[in-house]
Amino acid sequence: MSKLRFRVVETAFKKKAVEVSSPKERPSEYFGMYVFNKDKMFKYLSNEVYKKLTDAMDNGAPLSREIADEVAAGMKKWAIEMGATHYTHWFHPLTEGTAEKHDAFVEHNGKGGMMESFSGKLLIQQEPDASSFPNGGIRNTFEARGYSAWDPSSPAFIVGDTLCIPTIFIAYTGESLDYKAPLLKALRAVDKAAVEVCRYFNPEVKKVYSYLGWEQEYFLVDEGLYAARPDLLLTGRTLMGHESSKNQQLEDHYFGAIPTRVTAFMKELEIEALKLGIPVKTRHNEVAPNQFELAPIFEECNLANDHNLLIMALMRKIARHHGFRVLLHEKPFKGVNGSGKHNNWSLGTDTGILLMGPGKTSEDNLRFITFVVNTLMAVYHHNGLLKASIMSATNAHRLGANEAPPAIISSFLGKQLTQVLDHLEESTKDDLISLSGKQGLKMDIPQIPELLIDNTDRNRTSPFAFTGNRFEFRAVGSEANCASAMVALNAAVADQLTKFKKEVDALIDKGEPKISAILEIIRKYIKECKAIRFDGNGYSDEWKEEAQRRGLDCETSCPIIFDNYLKPESIAMFESTGVLTKKELEARNEVKWETYTKKIQIEARVLGDLAMNHIVPVATEYQSKLIDNVYKMKDLFPADKATKMSAKNLELIEEIADHTIFIKEHVDAMVEARKVANKIESEREKAIAYHDTIAPMLEEIRYHIDKLELIVDNQMWTLPKYRELLFIR
Ligand code: ADP
Ligand code: MG
Repeated sequence: MSKLRFRVVETAFKKKAVEVSSPKERPSEYFGMYVFNKDKMFKYLSNEVYKKLTDAMDNGAPLSREIADEVAAGMKKWAIEMGATHYTHWFHPLTEGTAEKHDAFVEHNGKGGMMESFSGKLLIQQEPDASSFPNGGIRNTFEARGYSAWDPSSPAFIVGDTLCIPTIFIAYTGESLDYKAPLLKALRAVDKAAVEVCRYFNPEVKKVYSYLGWEQEYFLVDEGLYAARPDLLLTGRTLMGHESSKNQQLEDHYFGAIPTRVTAFMKELEIEALKLGIPVKTRHNEVAPNQFELAPIFEECNLANDHNLLIMALMRKIARHHGFRVLLHEKPFKGVNGSGKHNNWSLGTDTGILLMGPGKTSEDNLRFITFVVNTLMAVYHHNGLLKASIMSATNAHRLGANEAPPAIISSFLGKQLTQVLDHLEESTKDDLISLSGKQGLKMDIPQIPELLIDNTDRNRTSPFAFTGNRFEFRAVGSEANCASAMVALNAAVADQLTKFKKEVDALIDKGEPKISAILEIIRKYIKECKAIRFDGNGYSDEWKEEAQRRGLDCETSCPIIFDNYLKPESIAMFESTGVLTKKELEARNEVKWETYTKKIQIEARVLGDLAMNHIVPVATEYQSKLIDNVYKMKDLFPADKATKMSAKNLELIEEIADHTIFIKEHVDAMVEARKVANKIESEREKAIAYHDTIAPMLEEIRYHIDKLELIVDNQMWTLPKYRELLFIR
């Protein structure tokens, strides 16, 4: 082992778990202590202001400037009591992550001193110098004004000494420059459309919430080993590295005992998360070595998404207390599973009903079927778009590989639900009318509730699976902002529900009874969207062929998948729901293509450096030793004996030469290919060039590096190997 590698490996091995002491209070007592939640609002605001603010939070009622001033004053008082000295607007730009700019609470007091101040104006709106955030050309740099605007529906919170105020981020001209603004619009759209449909069944419903329960997968790597791998440091993934002899084949990691250093990390993370009001619940080992998962109890989608972004930041910070680095990249290691972020999604009413779950009465179950079938329709019509919503340069490594959802969106329903839909599909119009007798609905589908409560009927290969009372969108990337998927899904479902309502109302206007009108449209939909239903093995080649025949989107190239956002049906859907305009969609796609290019570009540079500064020199040094040995053999032994004894080394010398020549030539070719691609004006075409020509070169070069790793003397190899990165904890 090279000295450096030996040192980092040895240090990593010796690391002990840090003691994490539990707070004296129980979790229920410190839960949300850093959040300006309703409890604190009630305490720090006047009765009137409290009512107005909660009305704005729950029902989207507008807030006046005066009220905002009072909210700001209350918030400031609380924050200062909690030790905060600064505040920031916290927003989600179109990069993966969050942005913040901290300002102190202080102002001149006009008497030569300072005072703590924070006004409604500062709470409501700020103007971060935002020219350096991706905007896809919406703002030229000379017109760099972007606004962050307070989102009262997500509570403010304190991290360290800073009060964080969740905000949306929009251009001077009103276009969204972030993930939160379209998410709020999509949630409003689905609320409105779903309430209308709910009223067929229950006129009391006033609001429909979209729920999100994310499951966050991640890897932990010892910080010293991480630092010795420039590729991990700069790109978040290993660009080279031969598979370890032992991987996940024994399946001994999944749900196994959690290593002590990791447990300490998880414990501290959970305590801090609970203090921030994130209802974390589940932790376990994942399939790959050093891979883990964390999941909270599901929440309203906007809040859940804030919490996911917050937890990713928290993980990065807390991992370092324990000598780890957290890897959120979708595919940090070749040959073992990558990380995803399952998005469990459902709709529920203010009357407490989960709309994607069966109920007790036939009418409940018709409502349930209505929402399931409309969701399937939305997923069917927008399957390409949904795929685009989770696609990225990093997630592309995971999709389509035989471990995670395939790069084709389909939906698994399980046996019972499939039977119900098949039954409805086969029924005739007369059956339907007799089903909808005078006493309401008499669906002759026995035991739906009982049957469906058993949700062990699972298909791990399905990207969009029904799991009892929700759908689980599994293709989302571990590093992604869930909002991207949630915007597309909620908007598409909103649009679909609106269409459904129109069709049903048209039949009712013609005199058809409500229930039979609903059933008739549902039956039509079941037939129409059948292609999206697939219960078989999503990893198989037969499915790829079958999906093609069914007309599902089977494209695998990331930059081309992004085109889905600009298809006429996508633009129409986003515009009619008021979620995104064509201009915004175009600008956002520019950002997506540009980001894609930059990611591959960085990887290509890093691999080029690694190859030429680490791999080739080390391999050559080893080769020189071998050559030396061959000459010495000649000096010591008679020629024929020496030749015989050197045969193995001669072979190795040649093998090393073959690999290093290939590497050198291809690194040069990769530089040339980049030069050509960089000249392309169109962001889309440039991204396609990077995808088609440069990305495959990374793999080809890697192949030869990995071969060298196997033959070069382990003592000379400077970079930590997979067995160290994946098994030291
Ligand atoms: P798994 O899929 O691994 O079996 P769980 O059953 O623990 O995981 O659930 C995963 C996530 O789904 C959790 O965050 C949970 O809160 C969430 N979840 C459960 N029910 C719903 C629902 N109706 N809507 C949205 N999320 C839900
Ligand atoms: Mg799950």
